[in-house]
Amino acid sequence: MISRSDVELDKLHQANAITVETLELLARTVEPGVTTAHLDRVASDNLRRHGVTPAFKGYHGFPATLCVSVNEEVVHGIPSRWRKLKEGDIVSLDFGCIVDGYYGDNATTVAVGRIDEEVARLLEVTEGALHAGIGAACPGNCISAIGQAVQTHAESHGYSVVREYGGHGIGTSLHAEPWIPNFYDPRKRTRLIPGAVIAIEPMVNRGSPDVRVKRDRWTVVTVDGSASAHFERSIAVMEGGPWILAEPRKQNSGIPGSEEDHV
Ligand code: MG
Repeated sequence: MISRSDVELDKLHQANAITVETLELLARTVEPGVTTAHLDRVASDNLRRHGVTPAFKGYHGFPATLCVSVNEEVVHGIPSRWRKLKEGDIVSLDFGCIVDGYYGDNATTVAVGRIDEEVARLLEVTEGALHAGIGAACPGNCISAIGQAVQTHAESHGYSVVREYGGHGIGTSLHAEPWIPNFYDPRKRTRLIPGAVIAIEPMVNRGSPDVRVKRDRWTVVTVDGSASAHFERSIAVMEGGPWILAEPRKQNSGIPGSEEDHV
């Protein structure tokens, strides 16, 4: 685990602010009839406008700027001009960019038109699980505290957390040590240090936690076909509590875990 300097934190803040701004633009673009390839184009156009580089394109050969995962797709869905969103779908948008060599990585799941109340609750609970995890990301806490908070929140609402994929360190590479499971793993005893930057990203399923990778070798889907939601924020572990890097930097007044109202 690396402690980042103020200069590095500023770069990471810039990269994550652009990433989340793009996700907000995408969320406003989502509507029935829009193709997932169109969303990818909106994302890459916005990056070009900022003059920054996409983080996912070409990563291990990933063919697009944006990961778009619909309904039972969990993560790593490939945008397609043949895939049209329809009323009642949910769509997970996972996106990253690079500013001066520093990475941003964030994700959100949005509704397409009107969605089933139960599915809306899945989105709410997954975002709640993300913020529970962020609240546990305080200096001195073990990595395991994050997954414990995420899992407790999701399971107390009757949902399950995906085991195979999780959060990660982030900085001058997209995925760095430590790996951050979304479930309680007592072996994850490394303690968080001030200045550490990590991405926390619960994937929460309505049904069983089991997932598989489709034949396109990217798209991860739930085995039982149940809906899945994904929310992610890159954060810095600060003395005064976690700093969600897409947001303006606060003075060291934060009480750990008190920032759950800020999304
Ligand atoms: Mg990530």
